Amino acid sequence: MLQLDKLVRKSIKNLKPYSSARDEYSGSASVFLDANESPFNAPYNRYPDPHQTELKEIISKLKGVAPRNIFLGNGSDEAIDLLIRAFCEPREDNIIAIDPSYGMYEVCANINDIALRKVKLNADYSLNVDAIIEAADDHSKLVFICSPNNPTGNSLNQEAIIRLLSEFNGLVVLDEAYVDFAIEKSFLPRLLEFSNLVILQTLSKAWGMAGIRLGMAYATHSIISILSKIKYPYNINILTQQKAIDLLGNPSVKESWVKTLLAERTRLREELDRLPFVIEIYPSDANFLLVKMHDARGVYDYLVENEVIVRDRSKVTLCDGTLRITVGSPEENDALLAKLASLIH
Ligand SMILES: *Cc1c(COP(=O)(O)O)cnc(C)c1O
Repeated sequence: MLQLDKLVRKSIKNLKPYSSARDEYSGSASVFLDANESPFNAPYNRYPDPHQTELKEIISKLKGVAPRNIFLGNGSDEAIDLLIRAFCEPREDNIIAIDPSYGMYEVCANINDIALRKVKLNADYSLNVDAIIEAADDHSKLVFICSPNNPTGNSLNQEAIIRLLSEFNGLVVLDEAYVDFAIEKSFLPRLLEFSNLVILQTLSKAWGMAGIRLGMAYATHSIISILSKIKYPYNINILTQQKAIDLLGNPSVKESWVKTLLAERTRLREELDRLPFVIEIYPSDANFLLVKMHDARGVYDYLVENEVIVRDRSKVTLCDGTLRITVGSPEENDALLAKLASLIH
């Protein structure tokens, strides 16, 4: 059994969190004079619900996870930062992350003065559990893995993830930002089988709401309580809460967007495959394709000149000579393909 008390930083364990006006009185009333708010400009004059009760209720129903197992952040980036701040003693502890993967794990580690140990994926982009266990010591508090992984696009093997969960003596953070595009199922239904699992999801990708900044972390109630204790009291603003409640109430919209993008992903793969300078298109369970090509930088520069922007990943570990191309709308993909076709002649 995981001893969370031993993992969490001392200063956080002993922290008495800020108690807001809405914590001290959360019922209904006709006159609220307790928070130094303005009486004008309703509804924006009021502080948002610090516990996001209504929004969590909707996410709970949608995902089949109890509200007490949900943390909401200003993007999943907030959850990544808070996990590191809650569990890692600066200059003492370390975290492990797969390489290549999402850049924010490293940035948040650097900001918090926590050493990051990068563990390379295997050549086929699969998870090397033995190498992670070998890289870990008593000060390794968190392992970040990402499935489907950014920028490689593949889902990680579930048996390997389970082995990591059982062999690593800290928290395993599984970033599922792209899971809506994957054939492999989310780990969420199995959340409470593992006391050391944290799952991250986001509204930034399949849900089409990167602009409102809402990320979810799912874990045991003990872990969620620690994150809730250290977050800014009003971390999710009124506009975001309201917009998320509206869209999450209508998941069929998201499902139709995902369906379109999956069809476009297949079409894009077929069309790109015909181009003579394309060497390999890696399997993708996400809304992007990692494409290895001759002179990736040259192709990138040419596309920029033509106002089509993709991501050059050719300097990234195990990604030599690759561009990462997001699957766009049918029209955007047509524009990309037309520019690439004109490159041949
Ligand atoms: C895009 C992305 C996110 C999303 O982060 P937000 O802060 O929720 O926008 C998280 N993880 C990975 C791996 C991503 O690629």
